[in-house]
Amino acid sequence: MSTRIAFLGLGNMGGPMAVNLARAGHAVQAFDLSAEACAKAADQAGVSIAATAAAAVDGAQVVISMLPASRHVEALYLADDGLLARLPAGTLVIDCSTIAPASVLKVAQAASARGIAMLDAPVSGGTAGAAAGTLTFIVGGEAEVLERARPLLQAMGKNIFHMGASSAGQVAKLCNNMALGVIMAVTGEALALGAAHGLDAKVLSQMMAVSTGRSWATEVCNPWPGVLENAPASRGYTGGFGNDLMLKDLGLAVEAAMGVGATIPLGELARNLYALNKQAGRGGLDFSSVVKLISDKA
Ligand code: NAD
Repeated sequence: MSTRIAFLGLGNMGGPMAVNLARAGHAVQAFDLSAEACAKAADQAGVSIAATAAAAVDGAQVVISMLPASRHVEALYLADDGLLARLPAGTLVIDCSTIAPASVLKVAQAASARGIAMLDAPVSGGTAGAAAGTLTFIVGGEAEVLERARPLLQAMGKNIFHMGASSAGQVAKLCNNMALGVIMAVTGEALALGAAHGLDAKVLSQMMAVSTGRSWATEVCNPWPGVLENAPASRGYTGGFGNDLMLKDLGLAVEAAMGVGATIPLGELARNLYALNKQAGRGGLDFSSVVKLISDKA
């Protein structure tokens, strides 16, 4: 069944996600503040571009957003002329951005007061997963609302995990990304140590990929240039998942830990490493460029 969807945020992730919804036969009206992002998505069959966010949601049954951070999501939905003020009761809102659990609760409560159901559904799987339609959705919200959203999420992803009530999806996403941030940094450190001893980083990575040091950082997004042809490291750390986005997620993890008195010593250390990497001028590069803090050979 075709659904009328408004899709807001056509960046590295949102662009290909909107395209996959259109390919699955849904009517997608999209909007992004960046004309370049709009033009890129408009080139793909089936995504029509609206002039404003308000125009995009006109007549939509479902609104999906994929924005950078909490402040963008809060502004989009909660501002005086924001979307919640114009969406009719019964609309389903799915926010796929990675944002603070507290921001989700703010927006979800305001939505609920207007009879609008909302899910937090951040994703994992990177830009390649967004393009291939194989994302993992990490969902918070009511189970029956997720059932309404499920066919749409299936058009963009392969795995769907219901983590609990509103904001539980964001908490789980932060746990995943904190582990990823630490693992990427230590994988770079291990490869730099091997290289300093004259080892071939490619053979070292191949060995680790079938040994106990294996991870997504060794096998899919290896931080050492030339080890994996398709990894950002092999194209000057461009594309992929930005250092600034990882820094944001680790900051959210620190906040989330402080909120419940949890201790995350490695997560806090990793946040500082990605902050130093930003200070070194690599905020816009893929987060695997953190290895360059350790070795100038990377
Ligand atoms: P991006 O910066 O490429 O895209 C975000 C887009 O949102 C931009 O094009 C921007 O112009 C647009 N935007 C901002 N405010 C807007 C508004 N009010 N209305 C319409 N458009 C607006 O970021 P991305 O890489 O697509 O990431 C989006 C979210 O997904 C982030 O929260 C990120 O942490 C998360 N995420 C990213 C990846 C990844 O690999 N890139 C993976 C998993 C999760």
